[in-house]
Amino acid sequence: MNYDFLVVGQGITGSIVALQLKKNSKKFKLIDGGSPNTSSKVAAGIVHPVSLKRCNLSWRGREFYEFSDSFYKEINFESNTEIYKPHKLIRVFASFEEQNNWIGKTNNEIYKNILSLNNKELHNLNDRFGSGIVELCSRLSVNEFLDFVRDSFLKSKYLIKNVFKAEELQLKNNRFHYKGDTYSNIIMCEGVNALKNPMFNYLPLIPNKGELLKVFSTILPSEIINCGIFSLPETKNIFTIGSTYSNKDLNPNISEDAKENLMKKLTKIIDIDDIEIMDQKFGFRPTSLDRKPFVGEHPIIKNLYTVNGMGSKAILMAPLLVRELLDYIYHKKPLDSMINISRFSKKINDENIDYAKSLGLP
Ligand SMILES: Cc1cc2nc3c(=O)[nH]c(=O)nc-3n(C[C@H](O)[C@H](O)[C@H](O)COP(=O)(O)OP(=O)(O)OC[C@H]3O[C@@H](n4cnc5c(N)ncnc54)[C@H](O)[C@@H]3O)c2cc1C
Repeated sequence: MNYDFLVVGQGITGSIVALQLKKNSKKFKLIDGGSPNTSSKVAAGIVHPVSLKRCNLSWRGREFYEFSDSFYKEINFESNTEIYKPHKLIRVFASFEEQNNWIGKTNNEIYKNILSLNNKELHNLNDRFGSGIVELCSRLSVNEFLDFVRDSFLKSKYLIKNVFKAEELQLKNNRFHYKGDTYSNIIMCEGVNALKNPMFNYLPLIPNKGELLKVFSTILPSEIINCGIFSLPETKNIFTIGSTYSNKDLNPNISEDAKENLMKKLTKIIDIDDIEIMDQKFGFRPTSLDRKPFVGEHPIIKNLYTVNGMGSKAILMAPLLVRELLDYIYHKKPLDSMINISRFSKKINDENIDYAKSLGLP
């Protein structure tokens, strides 16, 4: 069979690619190896356009938020569920300095409808410096979203449950051949697994380990709370607490250190006696050296593309970044130079060149 696209990886990014290809009536296959501990499978699902640490609008924040908000609302409609819902996020200030900074921002036009001051006291929490609200915030139930995409594409036979092996790919007459089918284009969305693949492993992708706790608490509030870490309400008295960030710990296991670190931060705002830990999870975020995503076409192998390096903002950024890649593929609309992988073309190495040669390229 002939297809327009092969999409590799059904994490948040690959799922969004597949949904947009379907909307554009393209013929494609989506392939996923079903790794259990992917970043997408543990992601908390929070979407907002603010960098909370610096109390700044994040890079292209409002533009990404507006695009992703309407994208996920359409998925709600198609799936007849509320996979995506608006939520208020409350930032508990750690100092008067932070409080003053936040107040300053609420008077600035750029932050209109995004930041406000919380005038209510937070019961049972230590909020002696007060708190602010991120008004433009939502949550995607990521696992429900991934399940929806998997189930609908399995039903229509668009999804193959298998590991993609780069060494089994062939290129003949400008078309990719893989396991008996041919494809005009390939889009790689492998997350941190891209480091094992000679196609794009020259890109400076850095796995950043994140761990989360599932806890029982009778006093954590029903809003999303952020105090350096976040508390996310799940079901009655059950909360997700996260996340840690580490690019040094590459062990594929949960760690005592992360548990202690999360509990220490949580006890700055709440009495520890109330908390009972029920579970702990980890995943590796695909982050990049310059903190910008990787989007674009392979420097040697034409019609081979990637969307990766989403860091901790895949849910916010992926819908618009995928749209921009598809506009580049369909209409040759130039990509933003900040995201275009052409910025790393000089990093291509012998292994990548040998791989391109193995496909028959000069
Ligand atoms: C603890 C934690 C909390 C987070 N919270 C948030 C949050 O609140 N909001 C947010 O926006 N982001 C969050 N993130 C970041 C987010 O999870 C990532 O940015 C995002 O999941 C990256 O998605 P991806 O699809 O690019 O990669 P991945 O999630 O890694 O998905 C890659 C997929 O490709 C498949 N795959 C890989 N190689 C192959 C192959 N060769 N063949 C077949 N299949 C393959 C894998 O099985 C996987 O399904 C969090 C991350 C962590 C770790």
